[in-house]
Amino acid sequence: MEHYFSKSFQEMSWNGPVIFMHWTMGVDKQPVDYITPNIQRILGYTADEVISGKVPLLSVIFEEDRQKFRDILNQRIASKSPFWESSYRIYAKNGDIRFMKSYTYIKHGVHQHKTSIFSYLFDQTEIKQEINMHISLEHRWATAIDSAREGVWDWNMKKNDVFFSKHWKGMLGFEEHELPNELSEWRKRIHPMDVKRVDQVIEEHINNESSFFESEHRLLHADGTYRWILDRGKAVERDEEGIAVRMIGTHVDITERKATEKLLQDRNKELEQLVEQVKILSITDPLTSLFNRRKMIEEIKHVQQKFEGNDKAFTVAIIDLDHFKNINDQYGHTFGDIALQTFANLLKRQITSPNIVARWGGEEFLLLFPNHNGPETKQMLEALQGACSNDQLLKYRTDSVRLSFSSGICEVKNQQVLEDIIKCADQALYEAKSLGRKQIILYKEGLPVM
Ligand code: GH3
Ligand code: MG
Ligand code: MG
Repeated sequence: MEHYFSKSFQEMSWNGPVIFMHWTMGVDKQPVDYITPNIQRILGYTADEVISGKVPLLSVIFEEDRQKFRDILNQRIASKSPFWESSYRIYAKNGDIRFMKSYTYIKHGVHQHKTSIFSYLFDQTEIKQEINMHISLEHRWATAIDSAREGVWDWNMKKNDVFFSKHWKGMLGFEEHELPNELSEWRKRIHPMDVKRVDQVIEEHINNESSFFESEHRLLHADGTYRWILDRGKAVERDEEGIAVRMIGTHVDITERKATEKLLQDRNKELEQLVEQVKILSITDPLTSLFNRRKMIEEIKHVQQKFEGNDKAFTVAIIDLDHFKNINDQYGHTFGDIALQTFANLLKRQITSPNIVARWGGEEFLLLFPNHNGPETKQMLEALQGACSNDQLLKYRTDSVRLSFSSGICEVKNQQVLEDIIKCADQALYEAKSLGRKQIILYKEGLPVM
């Protein structure tokens, strides 16, 4: 009778859905010494493969569950607990992942290295799939609109669960089974610089302060890069106080759009810089880097407008280098250019803001003093003449080259057109030249006309 029962039990267990096994901790070679042959039908490995150690026990446990398995087992052994119930995933021989439920009886040896372990493993994969099917019924709406362009999510705060659609996961580089439906899976992927902003818009919507929420933020992709996601959502259920308890929403990958935006931004910046450069060039004299004639005319007009209606005076002075032709003739045109640059640098040092200096043309310069009258201007130009006479200013090899200028100043009091202002200054300059050069003359009526 006994024999009849044990024979029948063996028959049943060898063909049933539960794998029985026995293994020993601490025996290096072949920890599994008994396993029912139905393992081949359930997982594809033969009992021999497992017992011979060709297929080591740990190697078939799903990678992510392996550490947890080890930790719990060690903890059970350390605490000498006899029973242990757990679930983990196992790779079947054909590569499929099977969800296993296990029940283990640990017979702790007198010496720890001789721990004997009896387990049965039950394949729950089909049950899981059935449960998943029920879940997906609840999310049938989601599968209907889930697309490669738009992934969907459903967050039930009351039930504390979240659903990510196939394409939602695909957008981040994951297969459907690779990413658990847990809120933390989304949260931990948000770029650290975006977290605060995302939290804020969601919080506002949860508290009913916005009719929907929309956020552009970066999420970590499986390949380690960040993808820009447009996340839009809306509460579908709120509690009595109006606080959202369930929200649904969509994800769109906008990385390319963001890249184009960034490219455009960079290009615009470059263009702006270019425009700035061109603007500067258009008002600058290339040889001396002083303002050019155009800019000076603008500046004089600007000062005139500012002073319109009040009787404040400003002055315009014209400077012409004396006998400049001689410098070119004696030392060559290139040195003439250096002389012009040297004089321009002296002007920059001596005549400072708000006064303005420009190269008017050739060896002539125009100066604008918005806050000075004629005599004050004359004094400033005399100081300039003094600095110009310094025999260290301009040298040809070791020889000092003398540089002087003549200048005519026009003090502008009432409305005068620009041409007249220049004419007055020119007339005074002409007088300065006639008086033997190196002179500064303030225009007054009755000066001989050129
Ligand atoms: P004056 O005292 O009467 O002003 O005598 P000047 O020789 O300075 O006057 P003039 O008008 O006869 O000659 C001006 C000279 O300035 C002639 C021209 O070659 C020179 N010049 C004008 N522009 C430049 C320039 O950009 N570079 C150089 N090297 N010389 C220039
Ligand atoms: Mg001249
Ligand atoms: Mg000259």
